Amino acid sequence: MANPIFANLPTTVFEEMSGLARASGAVNLGQGFPDDPGPAAIRAKAADAVLNGYNQYPPMAGLAELRQAVAGHYGRTQGLDLDWQSEVTITSGATEALAAAFLGLIEPGDEVICFQPLYDSYLPMIRLAGGVAKLVRLEPPHWRFTREMLEQAFSPRTRLVVLNNPMNPTGAVLPADDLALLAEFCVAHDAIAVCDEVWEQVVFDQARHRPLIGFPGMRERTVKIGSAGKMFGLTGWKVGFLCAAPALTHALSRAHQFLTFTTPPNLQAAVAWGLENSGDWFETMPRELQRSRDRLAAGLRREGFAVLDSQGTYFLNVDLADSGVAMADRAFCLQAVREAGVAAIPVSAFYEAAPVSTIVRLCFSKGDATLDAGIERLARARELARRAPQAAT
Ligand code: PMP
Ligand code: GLN
Repeated sequence: MANPIFANLPTTVFEEMSGLARASGAVNLGQGFPDDPGPAAIRAKAADAVLNGYNQYPPMAGLAELRQAVAGHYGRTQGLDLDWQSEVTITSGATEALAAAFLGLIEPGDEVICFQPLYDSYLPMIRLAGGVAKLVRLEPPHWRFTREMLEQAFSPRTRLVVLNNPMNPTGAVLPADDLALLAEFCVAHDAIAVCDEVWEQVVFDQARHRPLIGFPGMRERTVKIGSAGKMFGLTGWKVGFLCAAPALTHALSRAHQFLTFTTPPNLQAAVAWGLENSGDWFETMPRELQRSRDRLAAGLRREGFAVLDSQGTYFLNVDLADSGVAMADRAFCLQAVREAGVAAIPVSAFYEAAPVSTIVRLCFSKGDATLDAGIERLARARELARRAPQAAT
């Protein structure tokens, strides 16, 4: 009686692990959200907009002031020249933007190239649109694709390529050479790139985010997706940005029209204000997160964990096998949350086929005390797993 695309899905791993953490009072380094409440001035603007602003339906494509602010922000920070009226649509989070891109651009039977590990909303929505996913499997420690992998994945039926950069869960930021390679394939195969760039402002070590839409030949064939939730550390706000050339935007906005139609106007107004008055936020926010990343990485290394590089996002990963743990990631995470009081995310959950199952993702957008407690408990989880490697597999 139900559509198997959804009826057969498990609850998302983020919800599952946060639920277990809540039930047992565990330190939650699983689901990606900051424990800081977010910039006070932006929250004050939202409160003011609720009390004194307009609370009826805003324009379908978003408030003009926010669409202008998004175009302005990407002009300043990424050198893009977007026309706010014909190329920017506001959505209810990147999740809706992704759904609009898949529903608006895929025709039944079209092939859609996706890189595993992949964010959990992609495949169900691609399939709902009738798309056929072609999975490219990436591996630690670098999580990079090669020309050979792209040659195998692209075909005459390729319609879309979905790229998440910076990448959740790996924390990888693609080098310019890899982006240029993907752009070359998109142009040669007349494919559209759907770029999930929600982590674009969360990059470390002085790196600068490079949008695929800025590469030769990509301006007319890229859908660029952003999220205020990640830009301002307000993950519950669900204000997303869809940017694409006018012909693509036309189709995207028609899908958006029947997904949510609009996004809360008060939150849109506050995000517009935040983008126009960001001060040094986009320097201090990643600098602070980098400090937290380094604190967690150093603590974990002291306890014997093998820590992989994290160049962006709220996440770093540990390799269980290289940390002396012979347990699969999911079993380790279940034991960690139940017996050691710390929640983490098994990276195998981001694969549909042939999972890499030795990697565990940890969220570091937390205060020092939470990180320190997490390190101590993860050390306990490692000891438990090393003592009884078979127990929970
Ligand atoms: N894509 C990726 C890669 C994400 O990590 C997230 C959220 N963590 C989203 C999309 C969803 O973003 P939003 O909350 O704006 O819907
Ligand atoms: N994107 C967040 C993460 O990766 C979770 C979002 C969600 O729970 N759907 O942790």
